[in-house]
Amino acid sequence: MDSVSFKMCSECVASYRDLEYDSNSDYSLNIMPFCSLVWHDEHPEDWYDHCCEECQLSIRHLSSARTALWRTGEIPDHYLIFWKNAKEAIPEWPGFKRLSLNKKELDSLDGCSEELDDMMGAITEEFPDVTVTDQGGGLTKFTAERDLSRKRWWQFWR
Ligand SMILES: [Zn+2]
Repeated sequence: MDSVSFKMCSECVASYRDLEYDSNSDYSLNIMPFCSLVWHDEHPEDWYDHCCEECQLSIRHLSSARTALWRTGEIPDHYLIFWKNAKEAIPEWPGFKRLSLNKKELDSLDGCSEELDDMMGAITEEFPDVTVTDQGGGLTKFTAERDLSRKRWWQFWR
């Protein structure tokens, strides 16, 4: 698999550097866009609305690399340079303090994939024209469009 590169604009880097680790923070299942667990201190509020597209992609890759680390105990080869560059750019990112999961968290992580599979099944039944885009690093983007308006109806990544 091709290596993924870390690209984030200085504004988004700054907003991620501003995040503060909170040891009491809770996690939640984030089906979209991460299909993973997310702690509440790990992303700026409304990051999804404010980040540039390229930065959003890097953040999704960051989550994906860490999810792989949780599952397998190591960062996949194609994410090694990405992971190193991300750590240089946002060394204090709260997410870097959570590099392993306990049993309960791992179970939650599995639940996340199952929910996404269920949702994917339901959506493709209703919207057969799903566009699948390979975004590198094993990350895939799914987009479905309404026939008439061609307006983006939903999209997600895994
Ligand atoms: Zn940005």
